[in-house]
Amino acid sequence: MTNHTDIDLELTDEEMHLYSRQILLEGWDIDAQEKLKFANILIIGCGGIGCTTAELLARAGVGKITLIDADTIEISNLQRQIAYVEENIGFYKAEILTKRLKQINPHICVESRTIKLDDHNAAQLISKQDLVLDGCDNFTTRYLVNQTCKQFDVALISASAIGFQGQLLMVEGDSACYECLFPKEQHANENLRCADSGVLATTPNVMASLQAHHALLYLGLDKTPLKQKLMLWDGLTMKQRILAFENDTDCPTCQAR
Ligand SMILES: [Zn+2]
Repeated sequence: MTNHTDIDLELTDEEMHLYSRQILLEGWDIDAQEKLKFANILIIGCGGIGCTTAELLARAGVGKITLIDADTIEISNLQRQIAYVEENIGFYKAEILTKRLKQINPHICVESRTIKLDDHNAAQLISKQDLVLDGCDNFTTRYLVNQTCKQFDVALISASAIGFQGQLLMVEGDSACYECLFPKEQHANENLRCADSGVLATTPNVMASLQAHHALLYLGLDKTPLKQKLMLWDGLTMKQRILAFENDTDCPTCQAR
């Protein structure tokens, strides 16, 4: 390694100031902060979950964030998708969110992809990431993300929110996967999307905050508290449950590995 690269690896004085409240934290040091700086993450979906996860991780100092979403902003998004304002209606979510993240933290690199994740681009988008954060609004994408993360051994933290309910889980290394927990045939004829059902403004934002928090634990400290575990958050009782789940020996995604 050359000296020049060594210098690049360090946090600048300005970054030290920006992240000082984190670096001061017991259990979080310059090493953890530098790990964030050199992390590459992909955020799938720039809706209620993606907006908040992306903003928190940009503020915390994740060095390279790629955002993917093919949708444009609609008036009904503004109730919960905190990155957008009325004048953004009609523009691409991924582009507006990218602009906002760059304003929030000019020290990081942010890229937007205004495409739909599909069989043709999933490998290229996912294979080189350190972590994928799924906050998409449909099962087709959710299964494809899980399958591609498993295939390339990329860690995945998947969050969802509908109504007053939220879910969060992590797939990493040899762990059981999303499809082990939710076999595909159960959702074959189901097309329940956040877009078609009610959701309270706060629910996706609670789940996104938990997802971003878990991402920091993983990227900075190598911690995986929700690996192969499903967290259920009930927004009416405020109760949270964590359930371990097992490998499904019939899971095609795990068998293909
Ligand atoms: Zn599986």
